[in-house]
Amino acid sequence: MAAITLQNLAHSYNPDSGADADYALKEVNHVWEDGKAYALLGPSGCGKTTLLNIISGLLTPTRGQVLFDGQDVTEASTADRNIAQVFQFPVVYDTMTVGENLAFPLRNRGMDKALISERVQRIAEMTGLEADLHKRARGLTTDLKQKISLGRGMVREDVNAILFDEPLTVIDPHLKWELRTQLKSLHQEFGHTMIYVTHDQTEALTFAEKVVVMKDGLVLQIGTPQELFERPAHAFVGYFIGSPGMNFLPVTVEGNSARLKDAAVTLTDDYGTPDGDLRLGIRPEFVRLTRQADGLPVTINHVQDAGRHKFVNATLFDSEINIAVDEGSQIGPDMTRVILDPEKISIFRDDWRLDGR
Ligand code: ATP
Repeated sequence: MAAITLQNLAHSYNPDSGADADYALKEVNHVWEDGKAYALLGPSGCGKTTLLNIISGLLTPTRGQVLFDGQDVTEASTADRNIAQVFQFPVVYDTMTVGENLAFPLRNRGMDKALISERVQRIAEMTGLEADLHKRARGLTTDLKQKISLGRGMVREDVNAILFDEPLTVIDPHLKWELRTQLKSLHQEFGHTMIYVTHDQTEALTFAEKVVVMKDGLVLQIGTPQELFERPAHAFVGYFIGSPGMNFLPVTVEGNSARLKDAAVTLTDDYGTPDGDLRLGIRPEFVRLTRQADGLPVTINHVQDAGRHKFVNATLFDSEINIAVDEGSQIGPDMTRVILDPEKISIFRDDWRLDGR
């Protein structure tokens, strides 16, 4: 296992153009801790695979360095980096049995036969392949083949890191949850440094100890799922994490007061932003629909039932907001006000564009 340091990392697939927009990765500077499970999350095209390929050695960055435990591996081949990789599509040896496929990375390193067998058995149990160990890989379903790839990625204990590039894309949706749980328990048991690329926030939030949120070639925030939910460092993180994402309201901030039209909300935190026209962010879960006279006035547009919550879409002054109401709570016709939980308010500088809005 290794800590991975990324220093001034940037990559352009067309470096001679010189234009900033051509950089698929722009200035990434981070230390990823030894033994932690990270998810790399972001919309399509934000640079996740580019970053993963630079860490694995499939791609040499245009600028910057990759260090494993302080040692510069930027120019080292993938083989010399001592990593395991699992891709979106299965990579298996068709002529070998499932067991031989799982054992392959261990045999390759000359491991003792009894230890190999023990280890293969353990991995087969965790990936649900015990009953298939003697079957030839050729002719197996894609689900089973991808389980073999996952197992092979996890079978070695002595790798610096295990890198996963959207490994559950081809897996039946019913099996995804189960396999993710298995990956998580393998991580708890063996403590590998793991990096897991996905654009699916459920996958990222349920798998990882730390989530790395990317947009337009930049890392916007690295945090625990709870930090990203409660304290998004950037408005895009608030928007991208959560379903529906954060609500945003234009406000004028003066000291600890955020003015929305002719109402004001008291801010309890110091957000480190200058006074002026800013954007207040609040999650639907932290907006309370009420009949209390001191709430802010809303007009309800429609209600969506989403099982555990109902999501009420409403207009607050000129902005649309979503409000999460617990299942079982009644929405009375006189509930035309909302209270924003002051502890859960974020303030952002209004200098960015939300995708798709
Ligand atoms: P996805 O989730 O769709 O896989 P991603 O976040 O992994 O996307 P990348 O595949 O790293 O993003 O792509 C980042 C940017 O680099 C995109 O604009 C993409 O079009 C561009 N890109 C990726 N690979 C190449 C390549 N081989 N040549 C030129 N441009 C590329």
